[in-house]
Amino acid sequence: MENPREIIVIGAGLAGLSAAAGLHRRGHDVLVIDKGRGVGGRMATRRVGSLRLDHGAQFLTIRDPAIQSLVSPLLESGELFEWSRGFPEWRDGVIHPRSEGHPRFACRSGMSALPKFLSKDLDLALGEAVTTVERDGNLWTIELSGGARHQARTLLVNTPPAQLLSLLGELLERSSRTKLDVLEMDPTWAVFGEVDRDPELHGVALEFEDHPIFRFISRDHTRRTPGQPPSLVIHCHERWSRQHLESTPAEVADTVSTALRSLFGVQFVGEPQVHRWKYATPTGSLGEDCLWQPELRLGACGDWCRGGRVEGALLSGRALAAKI
Ligand SMILES: Cc1cc2nc3c(=O)[nH]c(=O)nc-3n(C[C@H](O)[C@H](O)[C@H](O)COP(=O)(O)OP(=O)(O)OC[C@H]3O[C@@H](n4cnc5c(N)ncnc54)[C@H](O)[C@@H]3O)c2cc1C
Repeated sequence: MENPREIIVIGAGLAGLSAAAGLHRRGHDVLVIDKGRGVGGRMATRRVGSLRLDHGAQFLTIRDPAIQSLVSPLLESGELFEWSRGFPEWRDGVIHPRSEGHPRFACRSGMSALPKFLSKDLDLALGEAVTTVERDGNLWTIELSGGARHQARTLLVNTPPAQLLSLLGELLERSSRTKLDVLEMDPTWAVFGEVDRDPELHGVALEFEDHPIFRFISRDHTRRTPGQPPSLVIHCHERWSRQHLESTPAEVADTVSTALRSLFGVQFVGEPQVHRWKYATPTGSLGEDCLWQPELRLGACGDWCRGGRVEGALLSGRALAAKI
């Protein structure tokens, strides 16, 4: 086992990266570990042929001045741009326009540009899940699925509540466990790919209030430089996603493609991509910016702390970094 690190962050989602980047900037020694092959968690972009499709978060808001300054290099370079000021809504079988809201920003080369930017100077260990966490004296020891072990004096965890509870169990304060126990995450099935024509959605995306299958359809190509063929990202309704949690990707693709064709007369070109977000959206929030147990030097952050959105995740990580 290598020498103990000062800080290990489990999870390279936006909250974990925001915490790690802030600590790294202040001169701390930080290692970030994620089971995914890339950084970003639910802010994800998949390459499909020449296309880049955002199958997780579709946009972010920049309300807080701290987030504004965090992302300002991306805004200045034009990578992050104002994509929309709100989306029309499909309700009772009709598309209703909606008045201008606050700006929603997207990344020109795919939403994963933001986590890549946050992680550019960080020490990363990707592609292996943390399977066990133990406390030895005043050190944390964590083991990865491939058997490697790492130690650190401070441990920060950026996983959904269920994984946090299963990794840390009784090491978490009882009051935190009680709050985490009731925090649930809704799933979302995402179906996405090139389509044979650009549907008339009356905006760059369409929200669905009461459709049995759809929750959000995004014209993904409207986030890219002009010239990309029309492509859609469809997020299924959380109720439908839960009911079909154990369906196969092929079954989901089939049902969604049929519904898309009957509603808008649009077809995927070839087989669409399918991704199941088992833990997509928190149904509630912790009501605190983060968790921090100073006596154990143990912390946790995530969108489930405040707001269930990109901005909430970034602010949660920032708040946790400030505790250290
Ligand atoms: C379909 C969908 C659409 C969305 N749309 C929007 C939107 O348009 N606007 C918006 O603001 N928000 C949106 N969100 C929410 C937004 O994506 C999240 O709020 C934000 O990305 C959460 O970041 P996080 O760091 O809290 O968690 P995550 O991104 O979930 O990061 C947690 C990380 O922990 C890692 N991990 C978990 N367990 C382990 C383990 N045992 N070992 C190692 N690593 C582990 C995971 O791989 C993951 O990378 C959407 C989410 C989804 C799923």
